[in-house]
Amino acid sequence: MDRFTVETEDRLSTVDVTAELEAAIPEGVDGVCTALAKHTTAALTVNEAESRLLGDVETFLSDLVPDSGWDHDRIDDNADSHLRAGVLGPSVSVPVADGELALGTWQSVILVECDGPRTREVVVEVAGSATGSEP
Ligand code: ZN
Repeated sequence: MDRFTVETEDRLSTVDVTAELEAAIPEGVDGVCTALAKHTTAALTVNEAESRLLGDVETFLSDLVPDSGWDHDRIDDNADSHLRAGVLGPSVSVPVADGELALGTWQSVILVECDGPRTREVVVEVAGSATGSEP
C-alpha cells in the first residue's frame, strides 16, 4: 500500500491528483489501482481537469447541497461538506496497464475538497501482476 497527501486551499475546491497517483504505481504491472481519500468530507472522482469545468463541479455541489439547516450542524457544523463529498464518493478504481493508469485522453483523477483547507491523505493499492505474466 502506498499513500500521498494533498494540501487544499479553499473550503470547496478541486485538485488534480493524477500525477501523484501515477507516482504510486509500480513499474511493469498490469492490474487495477484503487485509491481512497481517507476522509468523510473529501471525495475522489474521474473527470476532465479543465479549470472552468472544475469550477462548475464546485458550483454544482454548492447548489445541490444547501450550506445549512442540517441535523449534523448541531454538533459539527459541516453537514454540507459530508453530503457534498458523499455525492461523489471517497474512492476510484482505474485499470493499470504496464505500470500506467489506463485513463482516457481527457480523464484525470480529481480530489474534491468539501471542508478545507486541510491536509488530505489518499491511500493507493494496486492489485495485479507483472506485465506479460499469466493471470
Ligand atoms: Zn462532521
